[in-house]
Amino acid sequence: MAAEEFYVKIWGARGTIPAPGPSTVKYGGNTSCVEIRCGDRVLVFDAGTGIRELGRQLSQESVRSLDLFFTHCHYDHIEGLPFFSPLYDEENVIRIWAGHLGGERTPEEMVCDYMSRPYFPISPDYFWAQMNYHDFKPADEFDAGDGITIKTAELNHPDGAVGYRVEYGGRSICYVTDTEHVPGAPDANVMRLISDADIVIYDAMFTDEEFEKFAGYGHSTWQEGVRLCDECDAGQLVVFHHRPDYDDATLDGVTAVLQQARPGSLLAQEGMVLRPGQ
Ligand SMILES: [Zn+2]
Ligand SMILES: [Zn+2]
Repeated sequence: MAAEEFYVKIWGARGTIPAPGPSTVKYGGNTSCVEIRCGDRVLVFDAGTGIRELGRQLSQESVRSLDLFFTHCHYDHIEGLPFFSPLYDEENVIRIWAGHLGGERTPEEMVCDYMSRPYFPISPDYFWAQMNYHDFKPADEFDAGDGITIKTAELNHPDGAVGYRVEYGGRSICYVTDTEHVPGAPDANVMRLISDADIVIYDAMFTDEEFEKFAGYGHSTWQEGVRLCDECDAGQLVVFHHRPDYDDATLDGVTAVLQQARPGSLLAQEGMVLRPGQ
């Protein structure tokens, strides 16, 4: 792989609960998981069910070191974790990052709580990889080494969530999911994070038309994504966290109106690879 390679690959774009079946093949049924490659570095965002296939790919490539960043730990963002095969290889080094916990528990406790009896039989004691857990606060920025900068922002979501911006080689990719907007009042945290970004993956579980009915659920709309990206001079908008009830035909309909509203925008699909500036 060329040292300057920078891309994002979607491994799961569904929100809330997996939605497998013949009517969701195109956009995919797996819950949130996104991989960002920066040269030889592998950054993973969220551990929804999409992370299982990513794990198989990384094992095939013999990737030995990776960073896994959580937006938060609602089930659709953590339920694939125990099935992520790199965790069970003693040659691997895995760094887990979480910034939404507000000091109530550590990232390690978050994982232990999730993988505990009687809800799950295998505890993180079975991870054979060398595990490193990192806590941070929303809005922290850090140098992840190898020319990678990570910026973060607090999102508006029940129990908290964190949005991310990855900068590498003069380009940027943002991952902003599980956030609710206030109609008519663009979220200043999100605006700061996505300003001038090349690619913005954004929670658009709902449409403006149905938004009122779902106030308080913690999600946004594709129309708000358009407004934010326009306002912030961002590049490509990638709509994410699709409703489990929406089949491919419905999402094709959203794609059509989205592309009229903001040409170049897309709905995330499982397996999709996007490169900033292309
Ligand atoms: Zn979610
Ligand atoms: Zn959530």
